Parts: sequence; structure tokens; C-alpha cells
Amino acid sequence: MEDGREQDLRSAGGDAFVTDAFDRPMQDLRISLLDRCNFRCPYCMPESEYTEDYQFLSKTARLSHDEIFRVASIAVGLGVTKLRITGGEPLLDKKVASLVGRLAELDGVDDLALTTNGVLLAPIAEALAKAGLQRVTISLDSLNEEVFRSMSGNRGDLDKVFTGIAAAEQAGLSPIKINVVVQRGVNDHTVLDVLDRFRGTGHIVRLIEFMDVGNRNDWTMEQVVPSKETLKMIQTRWPVRAVGKNYPGEVARRYEYLDGKGEVGFISSVTEPFCGSCSRARLSADGTLYTCLFATNGTDLRTALRDGSDDDAIANILTRVWLKRKDRYSELRKPGPVEKPLVNKVEMYRMGG
Ligand code: SAM
Ligand code: SF4
Ligand code: SF4
Repeated sequence: MEDGREQDLRSAGGDAFVTDAFDRPMQDLRISLLDRCNFRCPYCMPESEYTEDYQFLSKTARLSHDEIFRVASIAVGLGVTKLRITGGEPLLDKKVASLVGRLAELDGVDDLALTTNGVLLAPIAEALAKAGLQRVTISLDSLNEEVFRSMSGNRGDLDKVFTGIAAAEQAGLSPIKINVVVQRGVNDHTVLDVLDRFRGTGHIVRLIEFMDVGNRNDWTMEQVVPSKETLKMIQTRWPVRAVGKNYPGEVARRYEYLDGKGEVGFISSVTEPFCGSCSRARLSADGTLYTCLFATNGTDLRTALRDGSDDDAIANILTRVWLKRKDRYSELRKPGPVEKPLVNKVEMYRMGG
């Protein structure tokens, strides 16, 4: 390879795996199934920008399931062990269960998960589990009807999300993780209610700092509630203690309740970045490979997928991209009042959250 890092295509138990410029393995692939969504969360796809006539990707511009499967199987051959289907809203794809079934057959995948806003989950949870999905993450920013509605861009239906959670439980898609984006002045006053609701259920709430992804969510540092502050608030109600990572590369810092009622996770990308262990590649719905959530550009795979290139050629593209990877946006960002966010970042719903 041209940059002289051939030695970083290593071998583990007979399988090759690739590490980047900071020795981080390519361990996870997040697959954005489609860029459309039935919500308009203001922190992700504000409805003022994503209006009725917004031009999302056409069917032909999007990767087919065959193409997604091909990229995933090549990535698994390069050491990826964790696959996550996301979007946009992945459950808008009516055939998602059949894709799950194919991905579940891949040798070497030890974790197959899906992230959803939960509204469409109930009718398909069982089929997803039968197809081989191991677990789901469901986004749920508040239990307060008004706050929830507004954080979904007036699209969400709280009852449907709860029916979705119950169906996921029933289908055994656990441990179920509940993602809450915490935004100051928006839902920070309702965070304890969410924790209270899920304590003792086995579901793991993860509190995510509002991130400066993309360019359209009017992010400011003032709206970020640092995890340390949220943790203090939790401690005043339920004592917790820190526990270790479940696996290398896990992004959430875990705390367990001292009364044995489960755990809560913090994803503190803004105030306590974790780039040092970031092992995630992202495949957007149009077949672009991104190596950072805050990327301004990526690498086109769709052309190679459609021009007759063989698997080795595509594996070569993936390997070269990963070997050169130096991303550590969050570590370099240094939150502060005078910071100037990057422009032209790719939107999160496009590259897969
Ligand atoms: N539509 C699905 C959902 O909402 O779960 C999957 C895609 S969504 C982009 C994936 C995750 O990204 C969600 O949990 C969402 O809350 C989170 N997210 C989106 N924008 C964010 C932001 N600006 N800061 C922090 N998390 C964000
Ligand atoms: Fe849709 Fe998920 Fe983005 Fe909300 S966070 S707009 S549900 S993709
Ligand atoms: Fe990974 Fe980029 Fe986030 Fe750092 S900023 S943790 S490199 S996605």
C-alpha cells in the first residue's frame, strides 16, 4: 500500500483486520439504510429545512440490499464484528427484516443491532428478532407529551413508541437501549422521569450530549448539558457508581444504580470525547463511506459496486481509507464560548447516527 502501512492489515485468528493511523481497528460498521425519516427532530432534521418537497435520495441513488450486504460482508472480512442498521429511520424500509436476515448469516458478526425512533417498531419487532436481529436502540427524548412532540418535530406518537418498546421486549431484542438527547432548556428538566420509568426494567437509558453534527441544527455550546452536570442531578436522587466498559470501543460511560435497579450510560461526545477508541465506519444510504460522524466528505463506494469491480478491489478501497484515517474531531473541537464549528459537515441522518 502506498503509505507504507501494509503491516497494519493484521491477522487475528486467521482473519485480517485493519487499523488506522492511531491504531484504532475498524470494528463497527453503521449502515444508514435510507435518508428519509418520519420525524423532524430539530437537532437532526429541522422541519424548516426538511420540508414536504425536500429531495431525498431516489431509489436508484440508494444502495440496494444486495449492495449493502456486499459492503458489509467485505467489511466483516476486514475485521468488522459489529453491525448497526440506522438512518434516517430504518423501519421506513419495508424489507428491513430480510436484510437483517442476510446480515445475521455473516460469519464473524457478534453484534447486530438497529436504531429506531420506535414508532414503526411494534408490528415488525418479532420478524426482526426471528431474522436474527440481536437488539434495538430506541430514541425517546422525553416522557412529557409536549416536550416529546416538539422534539420529534410534531411527528412522534409516544404511545406507539411505548408499544414498540413492549414489542421489542416481547421479541427478546434486549438489552434495549433508550437514547435521550439532552438539550438545555428543552428536555433537561424531564431526564429524571425517563430514568425513573426505565429503572428496574433491564433497559439501559443513555443520555447523549447534544452534538454539533451537520450544519442545520443551530447548535450552540449553551444548549449542551455536560454529562457531569446530569450525573450530579441523578446522584441527588439515586446514588450511582461508575462501572467499566463492556467491550473496547464502547462509547457510553456506564454507571450503575447502587440500589441494583440497572444502569445508565452517558455519551459525552462534546465534553469528554472518546476519539481515542473510536472504531466506527459509516456507510451512507448512497454508498459513501465516512470515518467520522463530523466528516465533511467521504469515499464513494457506489461507483465501484456498480462498475463490475470485484470484492478485492472494494476491500482495497476500504483498507486504504481506514489505514489513512486520522479523525478525532471531538478531541480537537475543545468546547468553549468562542468556538467556530466546521462548515459543510455531512448531516447525521445522511451518514447514519
Ligand atoms: N431515526 C433513528 C433514531 O432516531 O433512533 C436512527 C437515526 S438517528 C440519526 C440516531 C441517533 O442519533 C438517535 O438516537 C438520535 O437521537 C441521535 N442524534 C441525532 N442528532 C443528534 C444530535 N445533534 N446530537 C446528539 N444525538 C443526535
Ligand atoms: Fe429522524 Fe432519528 Fe433524525 Fe429524529 S434523530 S429526525 S428520528 S433520523
Ligand atoms: Fe469517532 Fe469522529 Fe466521534 Fe471522534 S469525533 S469519536 S473520530 S466519530
